[in-house]
Order: sequence, then structure tokens, then C-alpha cells
Amino acid sequence: MTCDAQTTVQAVRSAAEVIQEHREELTDLDRAIGDSDHGENMSRGFSAVIDVLDATDPATPAAALKVVATTLISKVGGASGPLFGTAFLRAATSLGDAEQLDAAAVADAIAAAADGVAARGKSAPGDKTVVDALAPAAQAATSAAITGTIADVLEAAAAAAEQGAAETEPLVARKGRASYLGERSAGHVDPGARSAAYLLRSFAESASSG
Ligand code: ADP
Ligand code: MG
Repeated sequence: MTCDAQTTVQAVRSAAEVIQEHREELTDLDRAIGDSDHGENMSRGFSAVIDVLDATDPATPAAALKVVATTLISKVGGASGPLFGTAFLRAATSLGDAEQLDAAAVADAIAAAADGVAARGKSAPGDKTVVDALAPAAQAATSAAITGTIADVLEAAAAAAEQGAAETEPLVARKGRASYLGERSAGHVDPGARSAAYLLRSFAESASSG
């Protein structure tokens, strides 16, 4: 497959649809350990992303991801706007002005996104946040890039993120709103980690069908 500006825009559009499909589930997860707005926040952010993409024509993959970043940062009020915005911004910066991506570039972008969110949120794996999906995704992506294709890298990242998100269930939250619940935050999957897993799964599906 090729990964250029057009395929990146298409992948972002598909990911936005996936977020809309899971909006209620994400809100239900946030109802258990937060304030019931995560699905709404992500959905509002990604529908604004679609509006911007309808009106612009990004010239590179990075430019497409930058649209996602700036839109999420400006349109989403909750913690997730700046955090997911940072993830996409760091990924975009990592890609630079390349017109065509390869597996190593995609893995590096995922790693940059994971590091950026951890730095921005002052969070580490085990804190029961989106970092519990992104950090293992970054590791898996980096390993897969040694011999794999872009589709292999995204498949590995998606599988690791899904596992990482599922493994947040027993954790006690140490960051974000869920941390206010202390021990009562255990027993529920972190909504942000689940969103990150959905996004990476969607990107993997776009890459494997592209
Ligand atoms: P809010 O918490 O402002 O209501 P959302 O509900 O949209 O925002 O997003 C909550 C998600 O944000 C959490 O499930 C968690 O994954 C993520 N999150 C919150 N704080 C942090 C942090 N400091 N570091 C990393 N992720 C965080
Ligand atoms: Mg919330």
C-alpha cells in the first residue's frame, strides 16, 4: 500500500466514523469513573475534524494529522482534547514534510504520539489513562517496523493498544478525573485508553484495505 496525504485523510475520516459509532460506549465508560462526557467530547471533536477536512486539502500526511490536532485542541474542552490533540500534533511533527510514508515513519509517529501524551499529561503506564494504550502500541509498532509493512505496524499497534486498554480495568487511576475516585476507579476500563485503541484499530483497518 501507499500512504500519502489522500490515504491519510481517508483514514482520518474512517476513524471519525468509528468514534461516532462508539460514542455511547465511551460515554458509558466515562460515566463509571468520570463525568460522562468522553464519548461526546471525542464525537464533537472528530465531527469538527470532518468539517475542516471538507474545506481543506492537506498536501502531506503530516498536514492531515495537523488538522486533527488543531481541531481537537480548539474544539474539545475536556482533558481528552489537548491530550489527543497533542498525540496527533507530535505524530505530525515526527512525519515532517514526507509525501509518502514507510513503516518506520509510521512507527516513529506512534512513538512520538505516546511520548507526547505522557509528557503533556505527566502520566506513565499504569496510571489508568490513554498512555496505557499508547505506550504498548508504540513498543509494538517499533518492533513490527523492523521487518513489517505499514499495515503490519498499525496492526501490531492496534492489538497492543486493545490489550493495554483492557488491562486498565483492574487499575486504580492515578491521573485525571478518575483518580478522584481512588480505589473505586478499579473495575472499569479507562475511556481514553479505549478511544485510542479504537483509533489505532481503525487506522490498521484502513491500511490493510488500502
Ligand atoms: P475529562 O476528564 O476532562 O472529562 P474526557 O472525559 O474527555 O475528559 O477524557 C478522559 C480521559 O482522558 C481519561 O479516560 C484518560 O484516558 C485521559 N486522561 C485524563 N487525564 C490524563 C492525564 N493526566 N494523562 C493522560 N491521560 C489522561
Ligand atoms: Mg470526562
